[in-house]
Amino acid sequence: MTTAKTPASFAELALIQPLLARLTELEYQQPTPIQTQVIPSVLAGRDLIAGANTGSGKTAAFALPMLQDLFTQKNRENPKSSQGNYVTGLILVPTRELAKQVADSVKSYAVHFNGAVKTVAVFGGVSANTQMLALRGGTDILVATPGRLLDLMSSNAIKLDKVKTLVLDEADRMLSLGFTDELSELLGKLPKQKQTLLFSATFPEQVQTLTQELLTDPIEIQLQSDDASTVVQRVFNVNKGEKTAVLAHLIKQHQWRQALVFVNAKNSCEHLADKLYKRGIEAEVFHGDKGQGYRTRILEAFKSGEIDVLIATDIAARGLDIEKLPVVINFDLPRSPSDYMHRIGRSGRAGEVGLALSLIDYEDFHHFKVIEKKNKIRLDREQVEGFELDETITQEMLEANKPMAKPEGTGKKKRKKKGLGNADVWLKNS
Ligand code: AMP
Repeated sequence: MTTAKTPASFAELALIQPLLARLTELEYQQPTPIQTQVIPSVLAGRDLIAGANTGSGKTAAFALPMLQDLFTQKNRENPKSSQGNYVTGLILVPTRELAKQVADSVKSYAVHFNGAVKTVAVFGGVSANTQMLALRGGTDILVATPGRLLDLMSSNAIKLDKVKTLVLDEADRMLSLGFTDELSELLGKLPKQKQTLLFSATFPEQVQTLTQELLTDPIEIQLQSDDASTVVQRVFNVNKGEKTAVLAHLIKQHQWRQALVFVNAKNSCEHLADKLYKRGIEAEVFHGDKGQGYRTRILEAFKSGEIDVLIATDIAARGLDIEKLPVVINFDLPRSPSDYMHRIGRSGRAGEVGLALSLIDYEDFHHFKVIEKKNKIRLDREQVEGFELDETITQEMLEANKPMAKPEGTGKKKRKKKGLGNADVWLKNS
């Protein structure tokens, strides 16, 4: 795989003036490593597969050259904006939020094209009628979630026969969310001759199969790990039943501008928000049972800083671009090691240093070791002052993953204030 070189300037990447002007306005001073690699390859018409997390600048990496191609081609041929119900550039994404976010970015990069390149987003959870209207006369770029796109195709609102460029954004996530059948149906409707760009944070077998079936002589791009390591990761050992207290303490102590807290279940979002409220902390929730309107509103409020604490399930883990999110907290550990990377990628975006905290009790012990092993990381276990580990937890209990025994006599937990606690033993032995 190709690894990242020192970033050039955007002008050196041969981008055209209307895009360069926009990048200056957006204060993008230089391309990110993924942009340096991807932009020339896309402009050269190559297929590519890129290992890139959100936060790496991958949206601009594929959107800028796509826009440039469409714009220059239109200028050459001087046709009216897309004719018929056709689409030229198709970007498939796994979630509604990502569809909206990617489309907003594409539109923003194209502001100096004076409407020459039309971009539409389609996704489920909202009425299809408005989307059908927007698709009338076709579109140059369509950002879509697979299910809604299939629906719109069955009602002839859009045709894929003329797609020239296909982007699969977060391919691993699309497959893990169960879009396999929808994807193969969609891919079957696309012309054979096209350019395909596949982005994926991880490369499980399904993604590799997809790559083999879909890509022709692709350029492979993988960022060096240093490029992505703008997130400081910390792990806190916490007594069972004390996570809420520790979380409340950390939030009050650090007064983060924004904190994104991950839990594993929709109802855990609500429970945790209630418990934090009782401790004087207002938090909002973000999960799949909430309607699209609510989700959009909450996200905007969180982005703009009106909401300080957002408690979310993994639907927020991928793709959401919340500028410079200072901290991500794993209240529950994610189920899969790759979800861990996606969650922590919400922080430390585009060169900013972020912070990812994981609160683990003894039941999380093994699981966190797996997460570390798979992601090739090894983190020191820390304790939060005032919430030190119960000294009755032994290494054997941790290894056996057994419920901790109550300290004899008092029935209360004893706290170890100073010196080498069991956590230190844990750290050394594990
Ligand atoms: P993405 O990985 O595409 O979700 O982008 C993450 C964030 O980085 C977004 O807020 C982009 O606006 C921002 N961004 C992308 N490219 C650059 C760049 N070259 N310089 C500064 N910010 C960037």
